[in-house]
Amino acid sequence: LNTAFSMALLVVVFAIYRNDIGRRLRLERELARAVRKGEFEVHYQPQLLSNGAITGAEALVRWRHPSGTLLAPDSFIPVAEDSALICDLGLEVLRQGCETLNDWSRDPATRGLKLAVNVSPMQLLDDEFLAAGAALIRSSGINPGLLELELTESALSADATLVASRMTAFEKMGVTWALDDFGTGYSSLSTLRALPVRKLKIDRRFVDEAVKQEGARRLLGKIVEISQVMGMDALAEGVETTEQRDLLVSLGCTHFQGYLFARPMPGSAFRQWLVEHQSLHRTAGAEYAAAE
Ligand code: C2E
Ligand code: MG
Ligand code: MG
Ligand code: MG
Repeated sequence: LNTAFSMALLVVVFAIYRNDIGRRLRLERELARAVRKGEFEVHYQPQLLSNGAITGAEALVRWRHPSGTLLAPDSFIPVAEDSALICDLGLEVLRQGCETLNDWSRDPATRGLKLAVNVSPMQLLDDEFLAAGAALIRSSGINPGLLELELTESALSADATLVASRMTAFEKMGVTWALDDFGTGYSSLSTLRALPVRKLKIDRRFVDEAVKQEGARRLLGKIVEISQVMGMDALAEGVETTEQRDLLVSLGCTHFQGYLFARPMPGSAFRQWLVEHQSLHRTAGAEYAAAE
């Protein structure tokens, strides 16, 4: 009986396993097709200073599935990263990002805004990304100083020398780097100091916990200090409440992104939001000046 039970269990576990593999393979095949068919679109989430001025946006990819649903990156980026697809997908996002920067440069409402594009660790380590990415950036004709690449902190636990040399090569073109999800990876401070990183994006978990707990608040303050000591800008991710924003401002954080200000939006909605936000911001500024 015991053996029969074990056998049955084994069969069930194997069926689940095979089903999971099957689902992944199907998704991979669909992703490859989606890259070829151009089903990916980029949404834009504003980034701001504490005075409300907009510095730019982060490009966040979405998959416009033929079924009509818009899929969030967490549902397909990990699968793309397990195959070589992330490289094609990443280049496609970069291509759309450069196109957007070009559109922005021709429009007085958006001229001079920066755009941050996520780069997967797999992509940075890929031997073709540097040449392909650099060619794309050059041929697009954008001002590379307006392009920021985001690398998640966990990437630094890979081949640190290779990562550093690739980052430096892009930096020499005028592109800047931000370290994403800072505080969740394993980078040593000495590694970090040796990298061409201009901005630390503080992971939203720190922001979330800091308003609830004194110890977390002090930790957040120290993270902001670390960025200052290293000469990097500090951007807080996932700011959802005015309480969080006010705390961050009091701790010396200078850059903000989160639902409190705006969610990621398609390009046209972003432009409209920007025009409305800027006129609001100008009015508020004018009132402030008049009151003085
Ligand atoms: P990320 O780069 O850390 O991007 C920030 C994520 O936090 C975005 O999720 C954004 O919509 C979300 N977010 C922004 N503000 C708030 C907030 O106030 N509260 C909460 N709860 N969330 C907020 P999204 O768009 O689903 O992207 C998830 C992740 O997928 C990104 O995290 C990034 O790691 C990855 N990703 C997105 N686009 C790309 C891409 O083009 N290439 C690569 N390699 N990864 C990408
Ligand atoms: Mg990011
Ligand atoms: Mg992040
Ligand atoms: Mg993240």
